[in-house]
Amino acid sequence: MTTSEDISRCVPAHDAQALPVAQAQAIVRRWAQPVATAERVALRASLDRVLAEDVISPIDVPSHDNAAMDGYAFDGAVLADPASGPPELELEVAGQALAGHAFTGPVARGQCVRIMTGAPIPAGCDTVIAQEQTVRTGERIAFDAQKISRGANCRRAGEDLARGRAALSAGRIVRAADVGLLASLGVAEVAVHRRLRVAFFSTGDELRSVGEPLDAGCVYDSNRYTLGAMLARLNVEALDLGIVRDEPAALEAALRSAASCADVVLSSGGVSVGDADFTRRLFETLGDVGFWQLAMRPGRPLAFGRLWPTHRDDDLRPALFFGLPGNPVAVMVTFYQFVREALLAMSGAKVDAPLQLRAISSTSIKKRPGRTEYQRGVATRAADGTWLVAPTGSQGSGVLSSMSRANCLIVLAHEQGDVAAGTPVEIVPFDGLI
Ligand code: AMP
Ligand code: MG
Repeated sequence: MTTSEDISRCVPAHDAQALPVAQAQAIVRRWAQPVATAERVALRASLDRVLAEDVISPIDVPSHDNAAMDGYAFDGAVLADPASGPPELELEVAGQALAGHAFTGPVARGQCVRIMTGAPIPAGCDTVIAQEQTVRTGERIAFDAQKISRGANCRRAGEDLARGRAALSAGRIVRAADVGLLASLGVAEVAVHRRLRVAFFSTGDELRSVGEPLDAGCVYDSNRYTLGAMLARLNVEALDLGIVRDEPAALEAALRSAASCADVVLSSGGVSVGDADFTRRLFETLGDVGFWQLAMRPGRPLAFGRLWPTHRDDDLRPALFFGLPGNPVAVMVTFYQFVREALLAMSGAKVDAPLQLRAISSTSIKKRPGRTEYQRGVATRAADGTWLVAPTGSQGSGVLSSMSRANCLIVLAHEQGDVAAGTPVEIVPFDGLI
């Protein structure tokens, strides 16, 4: 477990300078330890859960050699036998094998067995000729032996999953294919990490909830909806704690109660340096601050650390805390750059970096070196297969429609300066990430 001393070494003075994104991500990674508890769930309830143990295959899949095509099974040794007179080979049909109904009789030399896809390969046979490649006359078939090689069209026992091997590893997020794969092993339930509890709330006297009248100078609280939706995709247990006023006592109560009921607490707003920005100041007294200013845009103010439910005490379990910015686009960008990976890691998942592609910027983009910028972009694929990308108009961190119109983030690296039209940039597509 990382101590606050480790962090103060990473961040010489909390507010001395904005931390580069890569360093901040490394700090978050160190703090985001998996929750240990596991539970068993039925196969159908395992979708999107994180496996707590390897699943060892109890059987071979398939459990027997079987036909990959409808056709005729025979001993492929005859293919190499010049006495049989290739290329034209004739065999007598000795019986038939259907899926679930094996042919158990003997197959003599010069014989074959009519076989359907999935049916067990009869003893003594090792090759299947597809029905379309044969001519059948009564109980005999003929085919061109040069068009088939020994072993063709047979699926081997254990070729999909071998008994005793790990079919899926701990840390795997169970996807649709995995649910089917587990069913193919006859596995009825699996051990998964318990779902992470994530409490979230919005801060701001100007916020009104959907359904309330919009008073003069106020805005509807969109961040709780965006956060709720992003959390739903990660399959965590999300606790919506509503809107908290810009008032230190109310905010302190909200932070403490959130920390006492959740593994992770997310707030939005109040982390800047304005007169009513109490979140960061309170967090400094209630928790261990990892960082609160980043060299990124949007998302410069982002408070991160550990939050104690009552008082600092090694016997109490603190919650991980992200004090996200108030601006709606900054909330989404910081969520995807920091929160998502932390939640997956705490959920026990082995996390792959999001898919990143290179695209040609079809316009010039202004960029200041010394911070990472995430612009909202629309990527399209040109006829020759090249990816092209253009920013979605206004990039203000309050312009949520830019995020809604975009299909990717354009990631402009820390040291990078202005981008000239026609030059490559890195993009992170939303599909697959979200
Ligand atoms: P703050 O960091 O609290 O000063 O907020 C920055 C900007 O984001 C202000 O314009 C706020 O009105 C806006 N904002 C803060 N929280 C929300 C929210 N939950 N929904 C929509 N806008 C918000
Ligand atoms: Mg505010």
